This record gives sequence, structure tokens and C-alpha cells, in this order.
Amino acid sequence: MFAVMAAPVNDPEHGFCRDCLTPQRSRAMRCERCGSPRIVRHAELYSLHLAHIDCDAFYAAVEKRDNPALRDKPVIVGGGKRGVVSTACYIARIHGVRSAMPMFKALEACPEAIVVKPDMEKYVRVGREVRAMMLALTPLVEPISIDEAFLDLAGTEKLHGLPPALVLARFAQAVEKEIGITVSAGLSYCKFLAKIASDFRKPRGYAVIGEEEAVSFLAEQPVTMIWGVGKAFAEVLARDGIRMIGQLQKMERSDLMGRYGVMGDRLYRLSRGEDDRRVHPDHDAKSVSAETTFDTDIAKMDDLLPVLRALSEKVSARLKKAGIAGRTVVLKLKSQDFKLRTRNRQLADPTRLADRIFSTGLDLLRREADGTRYRLLGIGVSDLSDDEKADPPDLVDLQSRKRALAEGAIDTLRDKFGRKAVETGYTFGKGRNAHPPEHLDD
Ligand SMILES: [Mg+2]
Repeated sequence: MFAVMAAPVNDPEHGFCRDCLTPQRSRAMRCERCGSPRIVRHAELYSLHLAHIDCDAFYAAVEKRDNPALRDKPVIVGGGKRGVVSTACYIARIHGVRSAMPMFKALEACPEAIVVKPDMEKYVRVGREVRAMMLALTPLVEPISIDEAFLDLAGTEKLHGLPPALVLARFAQAVEKEIGITVSAGLSYCKFLAKIASDFRKPRGYAVIGEEEAVSFLAEQPVTMIWGVGKAFAEVLARDGIRMIGQLQKMERSDLMGRYGVMGDRLYRLSRGEDDRRVHPDHDAKSVSAETTFDTDIAKMDDLLPVLRALSEKVSARLKKAGIAGRTVVLKLKSQDFKLRTRNRQLADPTRLADRIFSTGLDLLRREADGTRYRLLGIGVSDLSDDEKADPPDLVDLQSRKRALAEGAIDTLRDKFGRKAVETGYTFGKGRNAHPPEHLDD
């Protein structure tokens, strides 16, 4: 099952023991020095530097740490208002308990489970401790939730006196010893595969996916392994007869984009192990926005609208280029008398689509179009994150899905023929205002 771990290209030089960190010179099953069976071997072991770290059954692990009486018992963290499982420990999982399962079902599956109410404050505290330890390895830490993050360990070998692969193993040991919970680590050349790798051998896992094997490895995996392919979208693909990533590898980019819009492009690239998203540290840009000052002040909605559209497209293009998304849309207006108005709205999911930025901005703008003459209009997004969870295909709202598909098509055309090749109905023919002067801020 874990072909990656048994890659035929294994080089005996390229291996170490996860317990004593001793390099391994033979192909023995156990460590030459301490006898541990936890050996990692991979031909690309010492050239990979992109890591994903994920704590194992985080909430449950913290509860077990704080109450040793729970240690060998099935523990479920959850309940409360929503009455669902937040986290199940691995013992409870053996009985079939899963996250997001209604509590009554979980207790049917595992009647002897001990249910603990979540203590979010405590988990946030412990999550921060883990993060602080990550930041001691590299400043390039990108948290994606309370208990997981991407780390780019490129160029840290001198600092640590160890290659990234070993730094990662030493980190996992240190978390166990100092914080009292376990983590799983994935090491690869890109984010997509590092995240898949960390999920492989949970708990206390460590898996490596190299460039050499990426395509053949992915071919054997279900499409749901691709980020953005949730249950609903997987059903759409299944209706088209596509279940495995290997099938996507045989399809043309144009075909995939024609069928699935922006997602088609994602499917094309990720199925081939192409993912050039960088690790964006937490303290990076806090927002991406674009604004313009008018030559003459504008009060009318009809005149503001095309400007808002053009600015939204500009913001979207920058988000797409950086591989990031924002969850809060911020509208900025400056009136004739230099009074600043900012209005913002949080979305259900982060977005990088011009259409969503525009329509949210438009909603906010309508309330401000009260006859005031404006000299400046700006739109942007904050609450930035990786675009991994951005704009999930929304099958409930068919209209928004259609717009997303159209936007994917527009992006492709613009890639090919340049920005001005395609103007949308909002900006078409609006001349000067359609492409406002460069006036960007970060
Ligand atoms: Mg986790």
C-alpha cells in the first residue's frame, strides 16, 4: 500500500533511524545502533525540504496527556451544542468513530468511549507551543490550522547541522518529550505531496514522497486526495467516470478546464505532481488590495461599478499569482471631504475569485452609495491563507459554480492573449475607468 516507503530506488546510504537519528549503512530492518524498527530510507531523502507537520488526534492527545487515566481508553472529544465528534483518539477510531460523526452514532460504535468536552483555550495554548518549536527550525512556517503547518526547511542545514529530513525527525522527538503529544511528518518537494505524506503513517508517522515517484504514486490514488476535491466534486467527477488520479494524468489541460473551469486547471497540475505554491509565513502580507483615485469625484453607482469590477479582477489576479486567498472582503472609500470609510465582510470560505470579491464588494458598496461624492475607491481581501481551501465547488449554488467556471475560462484566455483580450460586461467599453491607474497597496 505504501509504495513510497518501499521505493526500489532506495539507497542504503540515504537512511536513518528515527529514534537515535543514526545514519544507516545497510538495508537491515532494524537500526544498526539501537535496534529500533523505525528506519526511514529514500533516495531523495537529503534533497527534499518541504515539510508538513500534523499533530495526531490533537484534542484527544492533549486530554490524554493531562489525564493519564484516559491513556489506554477510547476517548472522544466533542459534544456540546453541535453534538458531534471533534476528535477521536486512535483507540476510538479502531471502533469506527470518526470526526464530525454525531455523538449518538459514535457512542453506538464505541459504547465504552469516554467523552470529554472540548477545552479550546487549552488546545490553542498547546498549538502555540508546538508552533513556537516549529519557528525555531525556520521562519518559513505556514500554519493551516491549530495543529498543522507547512515548513520550508531549505537552507537551514548550516543552522541545524543536520539536513531537513533529520531536523524533522528530531523535531517530532522533541515535541513528544517537551509537549507530551505526538506528530506526523511528511517530507516532499511540494506542499501538495508533503501534506499527503504526513497523513500516510499516522500516528507518529514519517513519510517521504520524492520527485522521481510522484507521478506513478499519484496515479494509484483516488481523486479525493487532491485538495479542493470534496465529496460533492468527487461525485461530479465520478459521473464523468473519473475516480483515480491516474485518469486525470491522461487528460489534456484544455479538456479539464473546459469541463471544470478553474478546478480543471488544478486537477491537471496536481495530478502530475506540479505544485509551485510557496510556504507563506504567518506574518507575510496581511491583505491584498487595489484602489484608485478618480480624476473627478464620483457619486453614481453606475460609475462606481465598473471601477469596482476592474479592481476586483486586479486583486484576484494577484491572489492567483501568489497562490493565496482571503476570507474577508474589505471595501474602502474616501469621500470628497477626505473622510475614510472601510467596510468589510467575512465569507464562509477564503476566495481568490474576482467574481466573489466583486459581488461581496458590490453589496457593501450599495449601502454607501447614498449620494456622497467619492474621490477614492478600493477593494481588497484580508484574512489571508493558502488557496488550498479557497472557493470549494459549490454545487448548491449553481449560479456561483457557473460563474467560477466562466472565470476559469477567462483566466485561460488572458493567460494566452493578455489581460485586455477579455473584458467582462461590467468593464467592457467603460474606457478610462475600466483600467484604473496602478495604485496598489499591500
Ligand atoms: Mg491533526
